[in-house]
Amino acid sequence: MGSEASELPRRPLNGDDEIGNFFLTLQWPFSYCNVHLRDKFTCFRPVPGDFKIHGLWPVYRNGFWPINCPARELEEQMLKNKKEDIAMEWQALEPRGGGRDYSNLKFWKHEWEKHGSCSKMEEPLSYFLKAIELKKKLKDLKFDENAGIKPGGTRFTPKKLIEIIEKNYKVKVNLRCNFNYADKTVPQLIEIRFCFNPKFDLSSCKPITADKCGCGGEEKEILLPDETSLLLEKTERDEKDEL
Ligand code: 5GP
Repeated sequence: MGSEASELPRRPLNGDDEIGNFFLTLQWPFSYCNVHLRDKFTCFRPVPGDFKIHGLWPVYRNGFWPINCPARELEEQMLKNKKEDIAMEWQALEPRGGGRDYSNLKFWKHEWEKHGSCSKMEEPLSYFLKAIELKKKLKDLKFDENAGIKPGGTRFTPKKLIEIIEKNYKVKVNLRCNFNYADKTVPQLIEIRFCFNPKFDLSSCKPITADKCGCGGEEKEILLPDETSLLLEKTERDEKDEL
């Protein structure tokens, strides 16, 4: 992934490194896995059917997106007995050269080094627990199925989803889409980004342009895939194996 880093310049101007807000980025596992779930990139099963954390990313007040700041290295023992709690909400969806624990740690190290290191939180554990706490503030991220936002083939517009979230949470979010490996015609929602101010109150995110969000525009139809989008992929792979 890493596409978010291209949205904003990375280096602070005028030495201004005050944090303006944090993005809590939640990922929709099926949209991550139906792209990566092929050959050696096979997601762990079962793929979770709810939003999980991708990262907690600070952005400076002047709009710069800092990454890879000097900070201590994350070591497993720093997470003490909280690893399981963290993994419930923030887990590596696909193996990274090892089992779940190994892959989680690799993902967490990456997120800490790239983004957490610039969060002005000195302790990695505080950073991870903060992300979990913020996600819990959102409670169960449920959509109004009557409004047509439900996993499966139903299509809806980014505008509609942003409005529904605004109704529930009183803030505007950013969305990001990608494409299913097997279907490049309709973008699928992969991320919802919630913004928090430096006091960690939920706040509105500045809108991002259609080309940056990958959803094709506010009025374009997108969908939220369910587990059947993985079966499609599996069938294709199985067919290849059988040849
Ligand atoms: P980013 O650089 O976008 O903050 O983080 C994504 C990096 O973490 C990529 O290298 C990606 O391959 C790796 N990664 C490992 N597990 C996951 C996962 O479950 N979700 C996402 N989005 N990235 C993951």
